[in-house]
Amino acid sequence: MVVSSESERFIADINTDFPEWYQDVVRKADLAESSPVAGCMTIKPYGYALWENMVRVLDDAFKETGHENLYFPALIPESYLQKEADHVEGFAPECAYVTHGGGKELEERLVFRPTSETIIWQTYARWIESYRDLPLLYNQWANIMRWERRPRLFLRTREFLWQEGHTAHGTREEAMEETMTIVNLYRSFVRDVLALPVFMGRKSEMERFAGAVETFAIEAMMKDRKAIQAGTSHFLGQNFAKAFDVTFQNEKGEREYVWGTSWGVSTRLVGTVIMGHGDEKGLSFPPKVAPIQVVIVPIYRDDTRDRVLGAAHELAKDLKAAGIRVKVDERDQLKPGFKFNDWEMRGVPLRMELGPKDLDKEQCVVAERVSGAKSPLPLAGIADALVARLAATQKAMYEAAETFREANTKEVDSYDDLKALMDEGGFGLAHWCEGSTCELTVKNDTTATIRCIPEELEGAGKCVVCGADSPGRVVFAKAY
Ligand SMILES: [Zn+2]
Repeated sequence: MVVSSESERFIADINTDFPEWYQDVVRKADLAESSPVAGCMTIKPYGYALWENMVRVLDDAFKETGHENLYFPALIPESYLQKEADHVEGFAPECAYVTHGGGKELEERLVFRPTSETIIWQTYARWIESYRDLPLLYNQWANIMRWERRPRLFLRTREFLWQEGHTAHGTREEAMEETMTIVNLYRSFVRDVLALPVFMGRKSEMERFAGAVETFAIEAMMKDRKAIQAGTSHFLGQNFAKAFDVTFQNEKGEREYVWGTSWGVSTRLVGTVIMGHGDEKGLSFPPKVAPIQVVIVPIYRDDTRDRVLGAAHELAKDLKAAGIRVKVDERDQLKPGFKFNDWEMRGVPLRMELGPKDLDKEQCVVAERVSGAKSPLPLAGIADALVARLAATQKAMYEAAETFREANTKEVDSYDDLKALMDEGGFGLAHWCEGSTCELTVKNDTTATIRCIPEELEGAGKCVVCGADSPGRVVFAKAY
């Protein structure tokens, strides 16, 4: 779709109608659209490029920490899913099944993977024999199906893309260390690449992954002050090893069950970036993942067209050589002012305006998406100058997100204050007795949940609901 009129570019007000704003930016910026199958999405090139930039950084980080990629089939025999009781209970309602193949009804239904622990642990039983086979540090990039009841593009779609790590270890300590290594890796990724601060911590028993002993998560604040779970890392204990009889011979010659972890992030991260940084003008992408970091808008008339476009392409070549993702907007039928707004809506961090007068002065004009500042820059040394500005933008975006989160995160010490805060929006740091009754009370009264139990908030107090002892504050918020 080429946006060609003002009305097509109109987006809802982010402050008064956030859900509509979200739909508008996803659609009008050409990130994704709904598919013929309800709840599934077609990711368009601009949206896919954003995901690819994330994949590249994450994949390198997994490999640097000793992991290898492999690939398991998308279809899992139904009987596998039944083997771990909590797991099947958690996932069965969301499963999609294949019942026929080659024109015949299958003897056993196949589940389109909602996550791959079962097929992987069934296989690990054959791959692991002795302590010498451990650890297995594997990851796969794959598509997943979960029949979500209320699908939303990128946030909850029935099919989505993700990576899932599945590791096997000889000791509890090693598996726990792996779980923490990964959740810390996710935290750094979201902070340093997506420019968003997160709370990191354990999940309560109610919010834990079905089949895990402990789940650790990172939680970011979106612009409507709701939380989004951006990544999870699960310590599986020996649950899946016991369900699939995965044992190994230790150095003393005894058989022991293997310890496991699993962890993942998904195309939800695209939704996270959109809702974490967007504003009234539309999207705003951190330079490190922006599909286009610098857009060059040439300004010309018929008689100056060749000169300006020629210079724009020369410049683009220099910027590419400096590692910048750059695009020249050559759409002849559109006015420059329209293009400026269009690229602002689409979240491009820097815009370069280049006209014949600029060329005479050997300069260009650079506008920043985040601050709105516009200033002339000499063309000599422009690539270095833009690399520096992109770095500064990345930093400024993180700082803005941190300021926003701090302004909307409050310590609350009474249940009335917690309810009021959840009503108005934001993160509430409150004491909790670790009882699921109190957790449910909050959920029923406010729809907010315990997003995580961060270690850094330790320090005794009294549960805001029942007044019993609490070992530390937890993060309450409404969440996606
Ligand atoms: Zn309580």
